[in-house]
Amino acid sequence: MALSEDQVIIIGAGPYGLAAAAHLRAAKVDTRVLGSPLQFWKNNMPAGMFLRSNWDASHISDPEARLTLDRYHEAQGTASERPIPLDRFIDYGLWFQRQVAPDLDQRQVVQIGRILHTGLPLSLMSRPSSRHIQPITAI
Ligand SMILES: Cc1cc2nc3c(=O)[nH]c(=O)nc-3n(C[C@H](O)[C@H](O)[C@H](O)COP(=O)(O)OP(=O)(O)OC[C@H]3O[C@@H](n4cnc5c(N)ncnc54)[C@H](O)[C@@H]3O)c2cc1C
Repeated sequence: MALSEDQVIIIGAGPYGLAAAAHLRAAKVDTRVLGSPLQFWKNNMPAGMFLRSNWDASHISDPEARLTLDRYHEAQGTASERPIPLDRFIDYGLWFQRQVAPDLDQRQVVQIGRILHTGLPLSLMSRPSSRHIQPITAI
């Protein structure tokens, strides 16, 4: 994967990383997003949980409010559920990710360093499930 020092690199494709990508890309900033989408929500939330945040507080932000929960349900042809079930929010987050970062790179960042005058090197590896881990340093 080619990364350049002119890009904004977002590490982590959770709700805030995806929201940042939506705003940056709308502003025509060259942006890359790294990480598995909604990974924390998929792996660390109690199964069967309902969101505690209410509907209006649970949209992932995009600059023109084109990717709200309401728009998601319209696009999917599904009825809204309140409180929002965990699985539904994860599906919404994945839908949001496909709109704003279809080119998401799902590898994990394993190291960030600094090299004077030559930019920011990142070390990446394949997903943890992969048996063959191949570190890459992008400058
Ligand atoms: C039990 C529980 C219930 C909650 N309920 C609600 C709720 O109802 N409503 C609400 O708004 N909030 C809720 N929260 C809080 C919510 O989880 C966080 O506010 C939200 O996930 C923060 O989003 P984020 O994008 O900053 O971080 P995260 O969702 O944590 O996303 C960060 C992402 O970065 C990835 N990442 C980390 N390190 C690397 C790396 N080195 N390389 C690549 N990727 C990396 C992670 O895998 C993860 O996917 C709850 C939290 C918990 C624990």
